[in-house]
Amino acid sequence: MKDNFNRNIDYLRISIIDRCNLRCIYCMPEEGISNLLPHHEILSYEEILKIVEIGVDLGITKIRITGGEPLLRKGIVSFIERLAKIEGIQDIGMTTNGVLLKKFAKDLYKAGLKRVNVSLDSLNQDKFRTITRVGSIGEVLDGIEEANKVGLKPVKVNVVVMKGINDDEIEKFALWSKEVEYQIRFIEFMPIGQNAWKKELFMPKDEIKEKIENKIGKLIPFQMKKSGPAEYFMLEGAKGIVGFISPITTHICVRCNRLRLTAEGKLRPCLFSDRELDLKRILRSGASTEEIKETIIRTIHLKPQGMSEQSQPLRPMSTIGG
Ligand code: SAM
Ligand code: SF4
Repeated sequence: MKDNFNRNIDYLRISIIDRCNLRCIYCMPEEGISNLLPHHEILSYEEILKIVEIGVDLGITKIRITGGEPLLRKGIVSFIERLAKIEGIQDIGMTTNGVLLKKFAKDLYKAGLKRVNVSLDSLNQDKFRTITRVGSIGEVLDGIEEANKVGLKPVKVNVVVMKGINDDEIEKFALWSKEVEYQIRFIEFMPIGQNAWKKELFMPKDEIKEKIENKIGKLIPFQMKKSGPAEYFMLEGAKGIVGFISPITTHICVRCNRLRLTAEGKLRPCLFSDRELDLKRILRSGASTEEIKETIIRTIHLKPQGMSEQSQPLRPMSTIGG
């Protein structure tokens, strides 16, 4: 279905949990989220599946499961299996911090998950621990390797770049793309919720790109069939790809094709907008399929043309679902 700016909305990102086993400095306060949802406030798998079925009627074909950390939710494999059986769903991806990926990768693939995006902001254990506050890098690297081995390909590695924190590892990450068939994607640090965002920590895409080209070599543009908001490049002779997602310095909103469903059942038209419609309340009030469809259509029409119209969203990223 088209929104008011002629963008085709065919992608739904679903946060299935607000909890996480890491505490990334760019996403959460050190003590975690104080007002975590009680279990009954989180959409059940049945409710999510119902929303997806109705979304498919409106043209949704692509789903991404995210969180918090989606692999923490019980029953995730059978949920993916049921999701994959919905006629009209062509693609299911997941964004995960990778900590539990080694354990789940094979079963997820068998259940119908097509690919994973794994967040990894440092290749150094001490730095990784500084950024995630509690994480252990070995688990994540093992998870990435396993995902690639079982066929959850191409594995996309998401690196949020923060000046003075992990920008010294940009070349290391880019060089990694020469050896492995992953897509290493550098993401501009976004001010979301009450996170640690400061102008001094922000590094624009052009600066990241320049750093790679100065130190390693030319980034050759790489045309991806469906690139979404990312721009892709290859280093000479590389097995993998280098990508950039620059929501702050590039007008990526013209290509936006997505809605976001939070774990508590709020449907959001835009990451950078705090407008949201309470789909859970409507669903639990016994609304008809038509009424739910109507709410989804209204949300699509609420999509702003661009993030310049918006302010910093109040919700932390872990509860919106990145
Ligand atoms: N826990 C999972 C993970 O970390 O991949 C999924 C949820 S996380 C909120 C989704 C994505 O949002 C991650 O790739 C993370 O790096 C990204 N993210 C979170 N806060 C961000 C911020 N302030 N700026 C840019 N990306 C952010
Ligand atoms: Fe957890 Fe992902 Fe947020 Fe890190 S980015 S705290 S792993 S939800």
